Amino acid sequence: MSTQEQSDTTTTSDHQSPDVVVVGAGTAGCYAAATVAHAGYDAVILERKTADEAGHIACGDALKGADSFPEAIPKSKLEPAFTNTGVDHGRFEIPQEDTVLEIPVPGELAVIDRWEYGRRIIDGAEDAGVDFHYDTVVKNVTQADDGRVTGVEAIRKGEPRTYEADIVIDAAGSLSILQDNVDFSESTFDTNVNYRHFCSAYREIVHVDEPVEWDDALVFKPTERAAGYLWYFPRTDTEINAGLGFQMTEEPMKLVDDLKRDLETRPEFEGAEVEDKLGAALPTRRPYDSAVHPGYMAVGDAAGHVNPTTGGGIAGAAYGGKYAADQAIEALETGDYSEDTFWKYNERVMDHFGARYAALDVYNILSTAVDVDDLMGLLAAMPGDKLAEALYSGSTDIGMKLKLEALIKSRGHWGTIWNLYQTKRCADDLLAHYEQYPTSPEGLASWQERRDELMEDVYETTGADPKY
Ligand SMILES: Cc1cc2nc3c(=O)[nH]c(=O)nc-3n(C[C@H](O)[C@H](O)[C@H](O)COP(=O)(O)OP(=O)(O)OC[C@H]3O[C@@H](n4cnc5c(N)ncnc54)[C@H](O)[C@@H]3O)c2cc1C
Repeated sequence: MSTQEQSDTTTTSDHQSPDVVVVGAGTAGCYAAATVAHAGYDAVILERKTADEAGHIACGDALKGADSFPEAIPKSKLEPAFTNTGVDHGRFEIPQEDTVLEIPVPGELAVIDRWEYGRRIIDGAEDAGVDFHYDTVVKNVTQADDGRVTGVEAIRKGEPRTYEADIVIDAAGSLSILQDNVDFSESTFDTNVNYRHFCSAYREIVHVDEPVEWDDALVFKPTERAAGYLWYFPRTDTEINAGLGFQMTEEPMKLVDDLKRDLETRPEFEGAEVEDKLGAALPTRRPYDSAVHPGYMAVGDAAGHVNPTTGGGIAGAAYGGKYAADQAIEALETGDYSEDTFWKYNERVMDHFGARYAALDVYNILSTAVDVDDLMGLLAAMPGDKLAEALYSGSTDIGMKLKLEALIKSRGHWGTIWNLYQTKRCADDLLAHYEQYPTSPEGLASWQERRDELMEDVYETTGADPKY
């Protein structure tokens, strides 16, 4: 009997009560549920897609840092989905400056077959003992009188189902519908979220006849219109993930035309065949200040765990899932489902990547206020390895000789350099503040107050409209 059939036979009633309900069979959900199941607790993943479609998720297919992913799903399980492990740099095409910048990518990077990866993490979670309910669309969240989340209501294959659980983990991705339905008024859960904090992204899988020369690079190019970029990521030397990302304030169709036009003008794509088209929203914002509420935690895209400058969110989702699950296990062992028990999850996220992502968001804010051509001219003048450092760490130090060289090359962009320099100071101050993230919910309000003061400095320095 297939796993799907087994799963169907265990769910004949319209009411289920597992220890933990996880909504969403993406990276965050699979890692969270696998971690809970390994500890011996019942975890059910509810996924709106069918068993065949689950794991088919819009992505650029670039997976960074997989060498140290959480162990709940063994790396050996994922590796067959890594179709290109030979990528070691980014190639930034800057047509305005007639320049191509080659920038090293630090750490391990693979371009993957995302659907195969999606199936493999589901498989890994099943091996750990997780039960999957496909075709199950979560519509609502139930709460007790004291506000604690007690479960979810869903439609499974057209029939209403209720799931009662000690803990609900919201791994439903960007713009999670669950968060529209929970009353968070009595908790620290971050509700300062709006569409300006998201980017739309779209990609096609393209097959070419002749191998491309740049199969060791992630290729980026700014779109003709502001606030967007195109990418070409080689799954193999003849299978390319071609896509674009743009702020939600831009008009989608016009930007998709940019991708089409660029594909048409690149000789290596002549006669190419498009296999699959998919688009979705992704957060390009700081991580949620708090992603916990009694009985409930949000993880992955549902909590803003994405590098806001690269759009990379798979690693954050895997770790967010694991950290939330660790606190879920502690709660199940102690019977205490309060924010205090879950708080360690917020702290670990901030400590691992959240503080860095919040600092990187400052550069996103800057990009909304500066002239894109000017910024591209400046980028073309910067040393590539220092740019790479800035892109991934949120900060960089550049030696005096390089500073002078960059300064001479970047004549004409000195106003932007000064702006960038001041912005970097703001980002460094913010990073230092995030490193002081509070150790309990009680400390959050005063920490936020100081953070908001630092954000005022960011808006004043960059000249950008407030984002939050
Ligand atoms: C076009 C594009 C390109 C990207 N490129 C990259 C890249 O190259 N590298 C990278 O690291 N990241 C990339 N990202 C970001 C990355 O894909 C996400 O950060 C990551 O997938 C987040 O994982 P998640 O588990 O939080 O959410 P998701 O992977 O979105 O999973 C959420 C799941 O929840 C399910 N769901 C949603 N609502 C409900 C509901 N109501 N009921 C039941 N199920 C529900 C969905 O069907 C889905 O299966 C890209 C994103 C996009 C859109």
